[in-house]
Amino acid sequence: MRCPSCKQDINPTPDGECPICRFPAAEVDLNVRRIYTVTGAIFFSTLTYALVVYFVNMTTDIRPVYWADMIFYALAAACVLVAIGMFAVKNIIIKAAFCEVPAIFGLFTFLISGDIAKFVGLLAVSLVLFMILAPQVTGYVRQIEREALEEWQQREHEGHTW
Ligand SMILES: [Zn+2]
Repeated sequence: MRCPSCKQDINPTPDGECPICRFPAAEVDLNVRRIYTVTGAIFFSTLTYALVVYFVNMTTDIRPVYWADMIFYALAAACVLVAIGMFAVKNIIIKAAFCEVPAIFGLFTFLISGDIAKFVGLLAVSLVLFMILAPQVTGYVRQIEREALEEWQQREHEGHTW
């Protein structure tokens, strides 16, 4: 891994510290991995809806419910609120969950209408939101590293004054 402090490629010591600068690199690395893993899992679960729709479409002849079109338009409109929510919340995991919601709407709409185009449209909204999220995840990771670094420098500094 790359040490956020001294920017070298390192193997942390058994204590989780950078062997060069003593920064607690392993702990920060774990937090960063956790964020990438969870947001990545949410993204891939969104893609699996496309597989579900594909197989249901191959195997089942869905008879649309009477209100299917109305429900689709209502859910498409609700996507605006979902997008606003995604921008409004701070927590990166909850942001990712918001990104997934239009695809869930799409899956639901497909199951009541049998109309693949409606699913694709709502899935596309999810994918656009994920594209907006991606740089925010990177930025958040940078922020975690920066804060850990500042906190560590503070601690080191206090250590020296003792
Ligand atoms: Zn280091």
